[in-house]
Amino acid sequence: MEPGDRCLGIVEVDLYAPGLNFIFGEADISSGVAIISLFRLRQEGYDLPKDEGLFQDRAIKEAVHELGHTYHLSHCHDVKCVSFSNSLADTDIKGVSFCPKCQ
Ligand SMILES: [Zn+2]
Ligand SMILES: [Zn+2]
Repeated sequence: MEPGDRCLGIVEVDLYAPGLNFIFGEADISSGVAIISLFRLRQEGYDLPKDEGLFQDRAIKEAVHELGHTYHLSHCHDVKCVSFSNSLADTDIKGVSFCPKCQ
């Protein structure tokens, strides 16, 4: 990678971190590398009808969220900001963009 480059891994398997029952993704700020899992983003995983558009929205939001961490952004309190999130419900509420403060 060149200086300033970012690398995002996208995996199908469920991801975990110490002390958490699962994670949607994680980022390493110093290396500029992030990862997201698609495992918990599909409606079918919750016995709900398939929704490809919703799945893609969630994947984009989680990708932008983790890449934001590689630019030293921490979690935001603005529920519409892509840097906000703890649950899948949060992911569905928030937008795909950063709030003015995070931008
Ligand atoms: Zn985060
Ligand atoms: Zn924000």
